[in-house]
Order: sequence, then C-alpha cells, then structure tokens
Amino acid sequence: MAFDRVIVAERTHALVTALPALEWITDSRVARLSQDFNWFSPVLKRQLEQQRADAVVRPKTEEEIVAVLAACAREQVPITARGSGTGNYGQCVPLHGGVILDLSAYNRLLWVKPGVGRAQAGIRLGEMDRQMREHGQELRCVPSTWRSATLGGLFGGGFGGLGSINYGPLAARGNVLGVRAITVEPEPQTLELRAPEALLLHHVYGCNGIVLELEVGLAPAHPWLESIISFDAFEPALAFADALAAAPGIVKKGITLLARPVPDLLLKAVPVLGGSLQPESHAVLVLVAEFAEDAMLQLVQLHGGGVTLRRTAAEVLKTQRTITEYTWNHTTLHALKADKSLTYTQCAFQSGRHTQQAAQLRTHFGDEVHTHLEWIRNLEGALTCSGLQLIRYASDERLADVQQVYRDHGVSIANPHVFIVEDGKQGRINPDVVAMKQRLDPLGLLNPGKLRGWDVRDQLALRDRPQPELATLPRF
Ligand code: FAD
Repeated sequence: MAFDRVIVAERTHALVTALPALEWITDSRVARLSQDFNWFSPVLKRQLEQQRADAVVRPKTEEEIVAVLAACAREQVPITARGSGTGNYGQCVPLHGGVILDLSAYNRLLWVKPGVGRAQAGIRLGEMDRQMREHGQELRCVPSTWRSATLGGLFGGGFGGLGSINYGPLAARGNVLGVRAITVEPEPQTLELRAPEALLLHHVYGCNGIVLELEVGLAPAHPWLESIISFDAFEPALAFADALAAAPGIVKKGITLLARPVPDLLLKAVPVLGGSLQPESHAVLVLVAEFAEDAMLQLVQLHGGGVTLRRTAAEVLKTQRTITEYTWNHTTLHALKADKSLTYTQCAFQSGRHTQQAAQLRTHFGDEVHTHLEWIRNLEGALTCSGLQLIRYASDERLADVQQVYRDHGVSIANPHVFIVEDGKQGRINPDVVAMKQRLDPLGLLNPGKLRGWDVRDQLALRDRPQPELATLPRF
C-alpha cells in the first residue's frame, strides 16, 4: 500500500482528537521517539535520520491498545511498535509517518513459576529480572541494554546477549514458549501463539504482529562475580576466553574479549575505567557465579592473565556499576564515542573454527578492524563466538568489501547496515512470516516498508506452509 504522508498526518491528528483519554505525544519529543540507535551505522543514519512519526501514543491497558489499533485500522494509519527504542537497525523508525505505539507503560509481570515466567511486552528486562530474583530466577539471555530495553523489543528486534553462552540466542528452542498477539483490524482480536509458531514474530521488527504478552524460559539466578582479566598478548587472551567458555563446571553468564586497542578506546570514553582496564592490553570481561571464582582463577593463572577488576554481586548492586554495560553493543557505543571514524559489523564464527577464524581475520585486517568477541552457544547448542568488530569507516563500498572478506573466510555476516527484515538475519523472504502478517495485519499497517515479502505476497503460496526453519544468524 502506498501512503500519502499528508493524508496520514491529517488522519493521525484526527485520531489524537478522537481518543483524548489516551496519553498522546505530539510535541518535539516525537522526533526523538521516532529514532533508535541506527546511527551506529553511517549508512542507516543517512537513510533514516529524517524519518518521523506524526504522533506517539503510550497506552497503559489492553483496552487502550485495542482502541488505538481499531482506530488506525479504520483510518488506514501506519503503526510502528516501540519498546525503549534501543534497536540498532532503525527497526522502530517509521518510514511512512503515522502513530508510534509506545508499549513501555504496558509492563506488568504476570506470573512466575519454576523455569518459566510471563509478562506484558513493555516490561523492562532489568525490572523483570529484579522481580524474578525474589523467586530465585532470572531471564535466560539479556542484551547489554537490559536496564532500559523491553521484553517485547528484545523479541521484536533483538538477538540475545548475556546468558546466551548457556542458552543460545532468544530464538533457540525452549527460550520463548508463547506470545499473545493482537490483530490490527477495525475490531482487533487477540490470540495465543505457542512456539514454534510464536517465533514467526521474532526479529520481524513488529511488521507482522503486535505482541501483548510473552512467556519465556527462565534460568536460576546466581550472585554473579564481575571480573576483568588483562593480557599482554592476544593469543593467551583468546585461549583463556575459549577455555573458560568451554569449562563445563564453571557456571558463567558472559565472556567478552576486547582486543587491543579496544580497551584503550573504552578508557578514553569512560575514564572511570582507569585501573580496571590496562592501556595497551587485551581484556577479557567475565561474569561467573561467585562460587566458581577459584576455578576461574586457575584458568587465569594457566594462561598468564592478571585480574584488574573484581566486583562481587553485592558491590555491583550497591554501586549500580556493572561491566555488562561495556560488553556487546555497549562496547560499540563507547568506542564510537571515543573515535568517530569507527563503525562496526556483526558476525558469527563457525563453531570449532571460531578462534582460528577470529585470529586469522585480526591479522588480515590489522588496524582497519578491531576485534570484539562474545562467546555464545548457537542455535544447535555448539560453543562459538560472535564478533561485534569495530571497523574504520572509509566508504560504503569498503565496508561491504570488509564484510565480504569475512564471508570468504566462512564467517557469516549479520549486516547491521540494512533496515529491511530480509536483508538482515532472516536472509530471505519467509512465506510463513508473510502469512503471519496476512493473519495479524491484513491491511498492511504495521511498520510498513520493512518487510519485502509483503510487497510480493501475491506471488507467495501463503496457505498450508510447512513449519519454518529458525534463523541461524545473530543480530544484536
Ligand atoms: P525497540 O528498539 O523499541 O524495538 C525493537 C523492535 O521491536 C522494533 O522493530 C519494534 O517495532 C519492535 N517491537 C517492540 N515492541 C514490540 C511489541 N510489543 N510487539 C511487536 N514488535 C515490537 N541487542 C541484543 O540482542 N543483544 C545485545 O547485547 C544488545 N546490546 C545493545 C547495546 C546497545 C548500546 C544498543 C544501543 C543496542 C543493543 N542491542 C542489543 C539492541 C537492542 O538494545 C535490543 O535488541 C533490545 O532488546 C531492544 O529492546 P527495545 O525495547 O529497545 O526495542
């Protein structure tokens, strides 16, 4: 469907008037709420920075959500869901104006049982974890943005993160058990989708359905010891990180390797890290259960590292300072602050060859690409690492060349410089994803312009599809 921007704006403003009981935002904040962290990519920044919604609405109840969706359906107004807007690919940037449906006030934890919990989509991950810790449990994998990001946003646009070393990405079987979704129609309907069907809404940027509630698997909550281990050379740092990741008896939540000069970039951006990060060194940031400290230290000694930061869970809680906010794409955030000529890419090394590939590519690119590795289990459960490599940006063409060299070495790239669903992790048009949109968004109003498959839906056989393959590439 083609949207006329002027008509969309007029109709959106009419909706604001027609639904006065709802919390609407129509002032200068709309510009900020129309953006996310796509500026990490010079390509996306150029393409998306001018895009704006016409209004933002922040419903608190299901009735309010229903009222908005029904009105948008009647008036053919585009809707873009938003959690906290921390996505990196312009997922919640509207391309055709209309309404941003900010779900951050729809945020109750609904219930917790041993190993499983259910919450409304707008709950912040940190808040959900806080409430679940009273039950001795925590989320299985959270992004480094856990403090602000929402559960619905992680499902709609994220991958995983801390904890993925044990449980793999969010998409791994058993991590998401079901979702409650709602259709965009003049009379919206709600429906419960169980996995694997529920996963058809995962990482589709809210293009094929609005999620109201999520039921997710939980992990036992441990007091996590946070440590930084510094090394003079890259090889022992890599060997230590991999050995720790593989050590079956050491309970852990995250292992991050920041190769030289990444620690120096962090020191520049966050001077308070002085002492915790050594200049001119390679750093491994580690979260292990407190009782596993001695076993971890044996590996530190074996590989010739030195502990430059040690913080107990109680200290982290008291100070609210955590090394998790220097891992995953937080590393990218700080590095980009320190050196504006940098951008990044995301890649998945092959399990079994991952350390070799990482070392080879580090040598190949020298100072053009800085190595940042995160250890995870992949969808099949195999140990590997993914890279959030920092790249000195020269041009779009050179960026594409660098990513191609990774592919040529057998490393998969999850390109963070594209905003179309199929150009990223999905990798191809998935008729099942499009069929889900047909079911939940028959008028094509959700986040229009980002699901290529919708434009060719007439050429796809959308009925009686076999169960889909889960996507295999990480996007962070
Ligand atoms: P938003 O950005 O608001 O939304 C993400 C997408 O989901 C959008 O397309 C939106 O339309 C859709 N959406 C939101 N709510 C719903 C809903 N209820 N129903 C349907 N669709 C919905 N990601 C990782 O996976 N791992 C990381 O470690 C990680 N680290 C990051 C570090 C930094 C510094 C930054 C800036 C980003 C990072 N990210 C990471 C990306 C992002 O923070 C996470 O994916 C986060 O979970 C997104 O949550 P959000 O609430 O901000 O989602």
